Amino acid sequence: MFEGLSEKLSSIFDSLTRRGALSEEDVNLALREVRRALLEADVALDVVRSFVDKVRARAIGANVVKSVTPGQMVVKIVNDVLIETLGSDADPINLDAAAPVAIMMVGLQGAGKTTTAAKIAKRLKEQMGRKVLMASLDVKRPAAQEQLAVLGRQVGVDTLPIVAGQTPVQIAVRAEQAGRLQGYDVVLFDTAGRTHIDEALMQEMVEIKAASRPHEILLVADSLTGQDAVHLAKNFDDRVGITGIVLTRVDGDGRGGAALSMRAVTGKPIKLLGSGEKMDALEDFHPSRIANRILG
Ligand code: GDP
Repeated sequence: MFEGLSEKLSSIFDSLTRRGALSEEDVNLALREVRRALLEADVALDVVRSFVDKVRARAIGANVVKSVTPGQMVVKIVNDVLIETLGSDADPINLDAAAPVAIMMVGLQGAGKTTTAAKIAKRLKEQMGRKVLMASLDVKRPAAQEQLAVLGRQVGVDTLPIVAGQTPVQIAVRAEQAGRLQGYDVVLFDTAGRTHIDEALMQEMVEIKAASRPHEILLVADSLTGQDAVHLAKNFDDRVGITGIVLTRVDGDGRGGAALSMRAVTGKPIKLLGSGEKMDALEDFHPSRIANRILG
């Protein structure tokens, strides 16, 4: 992602004479590079603007301490603002509620919801010793429920038995009951997606939310969709209310602007990253690590 911004900024400043404080002119020169790098990374324009304004406000007149070059100074400010925008710390899945804790996965078709549900279930079971039940509420795609059952067997996590002909809400109610009566710690609700956002999808999510009363609603979004992912996050957050974001396919993402934009636009934390098709390819989101990658 935006490889070499750090180097570029340093070289701009190294060609300038050292001064006691950063001048407006120096800062504007640097900000042009920052802006270009963020746009190249597919960060939404509004987000780039407010990001650059924040860096400008902090950089102009900032005293350059003797031990660093002005370039390093600007890099540090950009880094600080990046981390603030991304969220200052890793934000894990919150299980702090009475069992069974409901987690609802939402997102478009193909974003990686089912895969991510199984990855999360595996992690909760293996790393935290939780007893997890997964339920697919996807009655749109004929093979969806079976796909989750296959993944469940693969990771050694139970899935709700499939009953043909039920509506998503009926399945949600059955999953909630099974979770309660059979002593599960966590119930993961995998929902149906669509190829694009539509009213029927949002309505279905609202009804499932009412039936499953989730403690976490995780939007699963494909990081390769860039700006569309931002629009998606805003819509899901406005209509359904999300508590966090999982960005998938970061293994194929050369740009990574989606993370910054989604966080800035929704204010909701990026909780996890999907980094491959394998069941272990799930990573915690560390803002400082991403900022380092961005700065190059
Ligand atoms: P859903 O329709 O949202 O449930 O999406 P799926 O979970 O069925 O995923 C669609 C495809 O994307 C599958 O082939 C997954 O293996 C793949 N996939 C999911 N997450 C990732 C990821 O983080 N990286 C890569 N490379 N592929 C992924």
